[in-house]
Amino acid sequence: MKERLWEIAKAVHPEVVADRRWLHQHPELSYQEKETSAYIAQQLRKLGFEPQVGIGGYGVKAVLSGKRPGPTIALRADMDALPIQEETGLPFASVNPGVMHACGHDCHVAMLLGAARGLKLMDGDWAGNVVLIFQPAEEQGPGGASLMIKDDVLQNPDVEAIFALHVNAMVPAGRLGFAPGPMKAASDKFEIVIRGRGGHGAHPHLTKDPILAASSVIQALQQVVSRNVMPAEPAVVSVGAIHGGEAPNVIPSEVVLSGTVRTMGEPLRTKIREWMKRVIDGTVAAHGCQADVEFVSGYPAVHNDPEQTEVARRAARRIVPEEEIDVMELGMGAEDFAYYLEKVPGTIGRLGVAPSSGELFPLHSSRLRVDESAFVTGVAFWLALVQEACTAQ
Ligand SMILES: [Zn+2]
Ligand SMILES: [Zn+2]
Repeated sequence: MKERLWEIAKAVHPEVVADRRWLHQHPELSYQEKETSAYIAQQLRKLGFEPQVGIGGYGVKAVLSGKRPGPTIALRADMDALPIQEETGLPFASVNPGVMHACGHDCHVAMLLGAARGLKLMDGDWAGNVVLIFQPAEEQGPGGASLMIKDDVLQNPDVEAIFALHVNAMVPAGRLGFAPGPMKAASDKFEIVIRGRGGHGAHPHLTKDPILAASSVIQALQQVVSRNVMPAEPAVVSVGAIHGGEAPNVIPSEVVLSGTVRTMGEPLRTKIREWMKRVIDGTVAAHGCQADVEFVSGYPAVHNDPEQTEVARRAARRIVPEEEIDVMELGMGAEDFAYYLEKVPGTIGRLGVAPSSGELFPLHSSRLRVDESAFVTGVAFWLALVQEACTAQ
């Protein structure tokens, strides 16, 4: 059976590469994936699917049933690109200035279309339904996942488990990785407005200096995690922007700081806001200033379901040797796949796509390059997963 899956994955590889290159050349930003969505629907129609379009924006869904009754699983690919000017020099580099598929979502779509092609060749040789979800707007809140869920993408048929793969351009091509349990962080933004009293830089005693207060706040925030959070629990507070002042000899009246907080979800996600607020208020008060603090919630944390992760690992073992399957480390990035996992159990795995030679560039780099041969593994994995998960009960 392993040989058969590889055969199919190899047979559709030229089309997967062609799809990926078209998508790569025509990237679209989050919430603007009009052409991408139309391209996906068109390819699916050519394959004989009747895709549903316009789900949660530019989302596309297609369902394929096996010959025998069984469970319903969903496979998800995200489709949006990033506001980055491409610098790869590839012949199929982006034709849209300032927009680039730098997170590999072009690969995700192409491999899921590849799976659609492969499933057609498998001729219904599984039990149950496979729902293909092509999702817009992963890179920017509120996130296409939440919008597609609101539009009932997980219903009719009712999805019982969901899976995704994200490429990684620093991991050797063709390696698969999975993580049972926590994998990606809840990502929240904060903004702190520190108000003091402005004045002449030569007469600081007549001012309440918000610049000095801001510098103390930045230092103090770095102690919130180290002194409040249990050491074994992952958490990050990063200040990413600081704005205040115009002239070298003027103390301004206001400074604005903003940044990101990463946790693995509740209860810490709420607790850390209280601690930060306390530290900020106390610190600015020591400088005679006041602060307004605002938090904006982003994506929840990704907690992979251990049981479904094991299903994915078993599927991976159907196509590659155990040594090529990693246990993924937890990362503090964010991924809106978390919203699906709040509704149904599932797991998001990783596929290595690093080129075998030349300098490596991570995701979100303007020089990102991927090894397209890894798509064979990606497609074979999707097919193996359908066989592993869709069995008669
Ligand atoms: Zn990304
Ligand atoms: Zn991504």
